[in-house]
Amino acid sequence: MEQPFKNFYKRTRQEKVALLKTLGYLPADDTQSHLPEEIADQMVENYLFNYELPLGVAVNFNINEKDYVIPMVVEEPSVIAAASNGAKKIGPIKTSVSHRELIGQIVFAEVTDVDQKVNLIESRNEELLQLARSFSPSMVKRGAGPNRIWVETKQDTTGDYLIVYVGMDTGEAMGANAINTVLEGIAPEIAQLIQQPILFSILSNYSETAITTAQARIPVLTLHPNAVEAEQIAHKLELASRYAHIDVYRATTHNKGIMNGIDPVLIATGNDWRAVEAGVHAYASRNGNYESLTEWVIDKKTNELVGTISLPLAIGTVGGTIAVHPSAQWSLKLLGNPDAETLAGIVASVGLAQNFAAIFALVTDGIQKGHMALQAKSLALQAGAHVDELPQVIEKLKQKQKQPVNQAVAKEILDEIRKQNQTI
Ligand code: NDP
Repeated sequence: MEQPFKNFYKRTRQEKVALLKTLGYLPADDTQSHLPEEIADQMVENYLFNYELPLGVAVNFNINEKDYVIPMVVEEPSVIAAASNGAKKIGPIKTSVSHRELIGQIVFAEVTDVDQKVNLIESRNEELLQLARSFSPSMVKRGAGPNRIWVETKQDTTGDYLIVYVGMDTGEAMGANAINTVLEGIAPEIAQLIQQPILFSILSNYSETAITTAQARIPVLTLHPNAVEAEQIAHKLELASRYAHIDVYRATTHNKGIMNGIDPVLIATGNDWRAVEAGVHAYASRNGNYESLTEWVIDKKTNELVGTISLPLAIGTVGGTIAVHPSAQWSLKLLGNPDAETLAGIVASVGLAQNFAAIFALVTDGIQKGHMALQAKSLALQAGAHVDELPQVIEKLKQKQKQPVNQAVAKEILDEIRKQNQTI
């Protein structure tokens, strides 16, 4: 089978872009787009200049039987390499989205006669839902909008809280502003109904009902050329996965590795990664302990290692700054302009591949081998090496495999190379 992305990383930047055009991922006349200062000035307050981050592409992804080249914006070396490597090893990925719903809450505090007020709101549920829908006419027109309202109570030492929840399909948008408009629209009516002042109305970033799942099935025997070692690696991967469910120290780093893949795609596509981070970590704690977001289990019947990631991804392909940021538009174009559900599947898949790459390295060679090869470049740059000096410094750093390398060592090597070059 043809492998167009074999040794992709060895190509020059120009060759990479040319290949993406030849393969149809980018139009022939594509030019990379940058954020104009006049637009950036409208995006944030007290704007001064654009802070830049590198955008690279992860390759080898096959998601729901479609090949993807995935844009990632990240400052950490080895993340994109690990995603691409992980994707190659895990093979085809299948994704699904349970359903698209953003949840919002209107909160009342120090509520008197709380049960009676709950009943009152519940008796007007349908009417309130229609009112909510009237604050979101364009969403309703698209077949989306608010679709359920429910009430809960919570208590603390100050007394009773009454919470009105709104569940809303936000269409192709993440929907934070869209749902906040609805919440603030209906809150005064509810306050009037129950004769209570509103404490606040706001979306929740905990989208526990809108879960994206990605799954890969890796034949165990593909994990190593030697069958016995392949079985051992699969067993260790399963154990490492289980361990991340019982130890918060490990779970935190395990999930950081997953977010290494997820955040860069969110940033590249103009999505609110703080919102996703908050929701994902809350979801990781849903059983009362902070746990891993992935699970790797050997299916003994098929002798496959089955990896699954499940997480809430309230993201969009329109709205926010997505439409105004040319690089976000470019990233979506590279992905074939997916809808929000497809994008969520892509994001989850990168998280799964990233996780596989990390735990595979951990249970085989250790994390530093692959990491340091790329970190060497970063050390060389930190030591002050110019681009033309990089290959020599990196090569010498790599030769020091058995010794710890750091910035001081890189500087020593650089000084040595410069001295030698002077004497030539
Ligand atoms: P917008 O406020 O931009 O609303 C979505 C826009 O997309 C609307 O103008 C909508 O049009 C338009 N649109 C076009 N086509 C569609 C479609 N098919 N489906 C849905 N909308 C469509 O963005 P969001 O409401 O998504 O809010 C996201 C922003 O809110 C992000 O920037 C986020 O950082 C920020 N935010 C996040 C918070 C949080 O996470 N806690 C809190 C507050 C803000 P129309 O108006 O016609 O419906």
